[in-house]
Amino acid sequence: MSADIHWVDVAVQTPAHSEVGTWLTYTHPFALPAGTLVRVPLGSREVLGVVWQSHVDKPDTLELIKARAIAHVVNLPPLHAEWMALVTFAARYYQRSVGEVAAQALPPSLHKLSPEQMQRRLSKLSSDVALHIQTAPQASTEQAQALDTLDQQQGPFLLFGNTGSGKTEVYLQAIARILQRDDRAQALLLVPEINLTPQLLERVQTRFGTQAVVSMHSGLTPAQRLKSWVLAHQGVARIVLGTRMAIFASLPHLRVIVVDEEHDPSYKQQEGARYSARDLAIYRGKAQQAKVILGSATPSLESWYHSRAEVEGGRYVRLHMPSRVGMGRMPTIRRVDMNHQPRNTRISAPLMQALQERLARGEQSLLLLNRRGYAPVLQCADCGWKSDCPQCSAFRVFHKNDRSLRCHHCGLTQRVPPACPQCGNPDILPVGLGTEQLQEHVAELMGHLKRPDGRPVHIARMDADTTQHAGQLQAQLAQMHAGDVDILIGTQMIAKGHDFRRVTLVAALNPDNGLFSSDFRAPERLFALLMQAAGRAGRQADQSQQAEMWVQTHHPDHAVFRHLKAHDYPAFAQDELLAREQAGLPPFVHQALLRADARTQEVAQALLRAAQHQLQQHPTDWGLTAQVMDAVNLYPPVPMSMQRVANVERSQMLIESPSRAHLHQTLFALQQLMHQLRKQPQHKGVLRWLVDVDPQAI
Ligand code: ADP
Ligand code: ZN
Ligand code: ZN
Repeated sequence: MSADIHWVDVAVQTPAHSEVGTWLTYTHPFALPAGTLVRVPLGSREVLGVVWQSHVDKPDTLELIKARAIAHVVNLPPLHAEWMALVTFAARYYQRSVGEVAAQALPPSLHKLSPEQMQRRLSKLSSDVALHIQTAPQASTEQAQALDTLDQQQGPFLLFGNTGSGKTEVYLQAIARILQRDDRAQALLLVPEINLTPQLLERVQTRFGTQAVVSMHSGLTPAQRLKSWVLAHQGVARIVLGTRMAIFASLPHLRVIVVDEEHDPSYKQQEGARYSARDLAIYRGKAQQAKVILGSATPSLESWYHSRAEVEGGRYVRLHMPSRVGMGRMPTIRRVDMNHQPRNTRISAPLMQALQERLARGEQSLLLLNRRGYAPVLQCADCGWKSDCPQCSAFRVFHKNDRSLRCHHCGLTQRVPPACPQCGNPDILPVGLGTEQLQEHVAELMGHLKRPDGRPVHIARMDADTTQHAGQLQAQLAQMHAGDVDILIGTQMIAKGHDFRRVTLVAALNPDNGLFSSDFRAPERLFALLMQAAGRAGRQADQSQQAEMWVQTHHPDHAVFRHLKAHDYPAFAQDELLAREQAGLPPFVHQALLRADARTQEVAQALLRAAQHQLQQHPTDWGLTAQVMDAVNLYPPVPMSMQRVANVERSQMLIESPSRAHLHQTLFALQQLMHQLRKQPQHKGVLRWLVDVDPQAI
């Protein structure tokens, strides 16, 4: 068949708010297979695009007849059909354009490099697949059982395994089995943050060979990211270890996806297409016939609910590994009732005692405090002035080391004023406790003590401030592993998957904030954090008898702490799910947020109210039936809980339905509606609007 011109629909990144599901049409002398990467003119620029389909029929609209020609065809194999299906699904589900999601899913260098530069990069890449699987340790009984079920059933699976139960070992052995059986098969291993667990990459490479494994995360240079991406795309890399972005890696022979710490909020992207890598893993596994393994010691309540065995229709297969491998039992949980401690106690007397015992024995301790900086706020004792951020509805945090006031939301940083800006009183005082001050406080209390080897105790701190430069985090972790640190103070960063071997005490100094947040997921998050933290203690069998997790709280009988004491996630989940069901919250309903930002709250909310009015009063104008609207709840627009950031007022409208289908029908209608409303003069002041499907914070 011959035709002089082929019409090619290309997905490109068009400006935000372009409508969902549209392509741009270009011409080319011959047909290009779907998935071909091309460079096309867009306005005065040339951009990367993905061919979605080609056709010979001459389009009849004038606009298409004016279509421009494709500039270059990138010299790489086309993206596979399942990748395109994933992007299409994600775009529809998260209410963005296919072009935007496709662009976000491809490495930045692919966008930027010229065809010649690309060619040079590609010619340097090896094409040898070098998989060398090393012998694995003998699986424990629980691990063997899990592996057999993984073999025999299709899944998706929820591997519910205690911290230290050997989940990672199960992932590696499950991957090994699948890769051994099929010499093209590929595996995707997702983790929340790679930087926090540098040992993992090493462990995977040791097991499978350095060449066979590539990593994908935002800490890589653009050149490294491109290399990883191309190797995976060509089928040369057999295993991709990555953060949430890696869910979009091109893996033509993907056969298994692991989502480690599946409950971790960092799997949800918070910019652009607000996707959940965990949820997309479930979709991708089904579409590409890859097994999906979600793993956690404290699964998300959504996954736990989907894996319930007692109810017909549990969608995930639950695998349980309660025992710790090569370690002792879980630490004893000790609650300190802070109501019986002197006011403003930071470290209670019994906790001090326990810390000193650790020091005397040469063991390590972790002190967890979820607030960095010196003090959350500075206050004038005379007039009550507080160091609020002029641009945000938040206080600026006092950092003592450089005497600055820093807003953790917009970044505004200023030197501490010499006196109260309101009344001139020179006595402005820190209120509340941050990690920097805690380190100072602990040094005052214990800095004079000696370790068993005669050296002075070393009190270190690890948080976003101490780890902002390249290599700092690694250096601090290395000190910790080497046993140079006696007490490590830090934010939740210190509670994540580290395999610290000499820690026998972990203390949460002030976890109560998480109990009474307006966010209904706060208790779930707190429970997961504390269980994770507890999992850092007693990882060496001979020390596990001494292992303790301390919780200082004003609410020692709160369910979170009661279940923590019993190490009983299932009981916690049962209580929490019951409460969610009674309150009509996820996973019993599905949610989306419609958000609008503007200089004033009124302008932002007016747009949301207009949308609400249209949907409620004129649903059929937007293609919605009364039946759909009956099943969908539109809440009144309200300011977001962080109402103002960087001088932008933020508002939101919650949209809720027990039916996923009805919720999505409403969201599609809303897309058209919002594009129309935005054009009206009274909504000109709106800076942006967006939809967040399955939001992680309400
Ligand atoms: P998790 O991912 O559940 O925290 P890991 O897989 O990291 O657990 O295992 C914890 C520790 O136990 C690691 O040091 C690991 O090497 C070791 N381990 C796990 N499974 C086995 C096994 N079957 N035999 C020997 N050691 C094991
Ligand atoms: Zn004052
Ligand atoms: Zn600010």
